[in-house]
Amino acid sequence: MKDNPAPHFPPNRDAALARLDAFAPKAGRDYAAGRNHDLPGHPHVSTLSPWIRHRALTEAEVAAATLDRFAASTAQKFLSEVLWRTYFKGYLERRPGLWSGYLHGLDAARNRLATESGLRARWEAACGGETGIDAYDHWAAELTGTGYLHNHARMWFASIWMHTLELPWELGADFFLRHLLDGDPASNTLSWRWVGGLHTRGKTYRARASNIGKYTGGRFDTEALGHRLATTAEPQDGPPPPDPIDMPEDANLPGGRIGLLLHEDDLHPDFLMARGLDPTGVAVLIAPAGRSPLAVSRQVHDFTRALAEDAATRLGATGPVTEDGAEIARWATGFDHVVTPYAPVGPARTALDALDVATIRPLRAWDAAAWPHATAGFFKLKGKMATILETILQDMGV
Ligand SMILES: Cc1cc2nc3c(=O)[nH]c(=O)nc-3n(C[C@H](O)[C@H](O)[C@H](O)COP(=O)(O)OP(=O)(O)OC[C@H]3O[C@@H](n4cnc5c(N)ncnc54)[C@H](O)[C@@H]3O)c2cc1C
Repeated sequence: MKDNPAPHFPPNRDAALARLDAFAPKAGRDYAAGRNHDLPGHPHVSTLSPWIRHRALTEAEVAAATLDRFAASTAQKFLSEVLWRTYFKGYLERRPGLWSGYLHGLDAARNRLATESGLRARWEAACGGETGIDAYDHWAAELTGTGYLHNHARMWFASIWMHTLELPWELGADFFLRHLLDGDPASNTLSWRWVGGLHTRGKTYRARASNIGKYTGGRFDTEALGHRLATTAEPQDGPPPPDPIDMPEDANLPGGRIGLLLHEDDLHPDFLMARGLDPTGVAVLIAPAGRSPLAVSRQVHDFTRALAEDAATRLGATGPVTEDGAEIARWATGFDHVVTPYAPVGPARTALDALDVATIRPLRAWDAAAWPHATAGFFKLKGKMATILETILQDMGV
């Protein structure tokens, strides 16, 4: 078994734009044909997620670059994968109780680790990549080593975690959030729920040795895998998703001296500048430690901070890039108003809400157009894709 060469994720927007430029020619039929293959170097997918997650590169920019080269029908598969992210963001935004429910479930699972030694040993082996299931152990090492995993590997990994190793799904979601550079409250929580049969109720995802063999280029011993992997995948326990809450409202830009406060969920405030924002000062609030009650990996901390510093430099920020709310509160005293891009459910929003500063939070056209349709299954939103893309790209002048 060969190691995947580590994908390298330079923490700046220029690197994201360069990767988008290099990938765009492959976003049509090539992507549709190759995207399920998890191969060394990940040649068939964009590997853009660490930048998109922090909106150092926006979904609209990715869609525009794709549609610049391909008809929407040719790039339909790639565009709909980008829309999956938007769907999950909107779904969680309209059902914030799923995030707090996950955090409660994680607390309960961590309490079990303190009292159940067998469970703790299995969890430690799963996190350390020492289960003896070679494909799984490989992905665990790839995740902790590079901060990235291919989508198919994430699905197999989550399925093995729950259905073969029989570990609580919340501990697996937490392991991902501690190590993925793109660790995202919505995509991660809802994907783990999906594998566990909690998102599409009762419909679970089971990793099969033959499927792993087919899509990993013969790197693993599928016969041995076949003996180890669970042959059934029962849905996890959990209440049905709550009813959706109302859409968040957009906010108008105020007059006076404005401080622009960025955060780790939106580091490229093009939409605010397009609305005429001319900030007197810029600062960035980051909250990577809030992704888990356990220690978040050094590379997630470093990547998030460096990406935030890159945004601050681009915007000529004179304010701090910090995790310290008190520092932001001192900075904010220099302005009549503080404007920040709308922050969706998750640690950045929690950190903003905890600030001793009132903030005005305008919503992006992308989210405003898509989230009203993120209330049921993905296909409700996908059905609106053409209209959503048209509206947004017109807005961008594309
Ligand atoms: C258990 C599990 C956990 C996951 N956790 C996260 C997470 O924390 N953060 C995260 O960004 N994605 C998560 N995903 C979704 C998906 O695996 C990654 O977005 C994708 O693998 C990123 O690689 P890429 O940029 O090469 O994707 P590409 O295939 O090139 O897709 C382009 C972009 O579309 C979006 N996208 C693609 N597939 C999905 C998907 N299935 N769901 C949501 N968005 C998608 C991403 O922004 C991605 O960068 C998870 C999936 C699973 C099964």
